[in-house]
Amino acid sequence: MNPGYARPMPVGAFDSHIHCSGLPDDLLRPYAKLNGLSYGLEELIGLMRRHRVQGGLLLSPPLRDGSPAPNETILELCSRSGGRLFPVLTAEPDAGSISRCIALAGDNRIAGFKVRLGYRPVYPTDPVFDPLYDFAEERRLPVLFHTGDTAVPDGSLEHARPLNLDVLANRRKKLKMVVCHFGNPWFMDTAELVYKHPNVYADTSGLFVRGGRYDEEYARYLARRLSEAVYHIGNADKIMFGTDYPVTTYSDALRIVRMMKISQEDKGKIFYSNAKGLFFP
Ligand SMILES: [Zn+2]
Repeated sequence: MNPGYARPMPVGAFDSHIHCSGLPDDLLRPYAKLNGLSYGLEELIGLMRRHRVQGGLLLSPPLRDGSPAPNETILELCSRSGGRLFPVLTAEPDAGSISRCIALAGDNRIAGFKVRLGYRPVYPTDPVFDPLYDFAEERRLPVLFHTGDTAVPDGSLEHARPLNLDVLANRRKKLKMVVCHFGNPWFMDTAELVYKHPNVYADTSGLFVRGGRYDEEYARYLARRLSEAVYHIGNADKIMFGTDYPVTTYSDALRIVRMMKISQEDKGKIFYSNAKGLFFP
């Protein structure tokens, strides 16, 4: 049977991982420059329209001092996005940040929370996160975890390893967890987590960064690793498309998923319906 790898993607996509702040000390600006992007709300909305991306989740980028851009900035940008962007609030590993996040989530409609493993030397099982996880479980809000490579050279890969989420997923079966960036480079560790735990999902964001000497080979390698992950899991029901704008461009991020050797139906799930089911049940 021809699974139809070569057919064009179905109309529509949802971007499960976008950054933007408009702040001058935004640490992702060098990536924007590398990709020839101006990295602003107007450009982002224009690109989404052009690539038929109906909506997306907006997350705080890191700033030069190591902190995430304020959650209030994210809420404000979403409110100016014409209904295209949905806020994810970033929680730092301190009680103050977590209680502020919970208060903001009470006053605003949000799509989930984000925990920056690796940007902070903290494990996901640290008790400081318990009130956040309790709230997220109660409100059925997913928690997104940064995993794998960090955008800064002084991040902690030890804390960013996706397998650190196994213990938490065992403990909290009601908590919906997203392994961001597919744990890159630990693709198979992430595949095993998604396979093992009904409550663990993964996104394909931020995998492709231009500028290496093997860009084409690397793009093919990524499509192959993601396909192998789907074979290991046995389905594509909990994998979601994302760009990590401005780190990866829409063209590159879409192309890698299109290159995967999986059925057209599964690509449709990755591009759109999985995210819809998780973030807008
Ligand atoms: Zn990101």
